[in-house]
Amino acid sequence: MWTSAYRDPFALPNHGPRAAGAGRGHRTLAAMRHGSIPGARGRVRPLTLLGDPILHQPCEDVTAFGPELATLVEDLFATMYASQGVGLAANQVGEPLRVFVYDCPDDEDVRHLGHVVNPRLVEADGVVIRGPEGCLSLPGLEAGTERHDHAVVEGFTVTGDPVTVHGTGFFARCLQHEMDHLEGRVYADRVKGWRHRKLMRQVGRASWRRGSVPT
Ligand SMILES: [Zn+2]
Repeated sequence: MWTSAYRDPFALPNHGPRAAGAGRGHRTLAAMRHGSIPGARGRVRPLTLLGDPILHQPCEDVTAFGPELATLVEDLFATMYASQGVGLAANQVGEPLRVFVYDCPDDEDVRHLGHVVNPRLVEADGVVIRGPEGCLSLPGLEAGTERHDHAVVEGFTVTGDPVTVHGTGFFARCLQHEMDHLEGRVYADRVKGWRHRKLMRQVGRASWRRGSVPT
């Protein structure tokens, strides 16, 4: 899960799915008229947390492009929005399948909204930037994580049509983060040195890690 938690609200005051730009408003109204807001028919599911085996093993390819897949995508959107995230992978709601959704701004504040089934990361290049990153599967935490500034993902829609997603900046980070989830990795696996040690200490102290109810 790519979450607002890693988006420093002070550094990026206008970013995120809750940003209320005029363009966003128009799109939302149009979607309402057509009854097509992503996640509107979805169910908010419990999120899996760091340490759950499903987050630490590769997901499987989707083989059936039927109503169950459409329901999963709707549930992913509903859960992502409920958690104020900007991306969510299927294994974060307990489904070990290669699917993720996103509603994420790039560095130019262009909104990117969609889903990908059976995605492949076909390009990840450009400069490597270490930026704050977090994840709803490690609630409340973030750490400087290195990512490429440009990424391209190819995959399919819920109806089986091919789709290509290009990302730069913050959205490229999101795409790489979600692709990692489907390979059984979390951002903490990419954090290095003292940042990793600090993050793991914070994980050890986290209330959700001790089995209490996250707030
Ligand atoms: Zn994540």
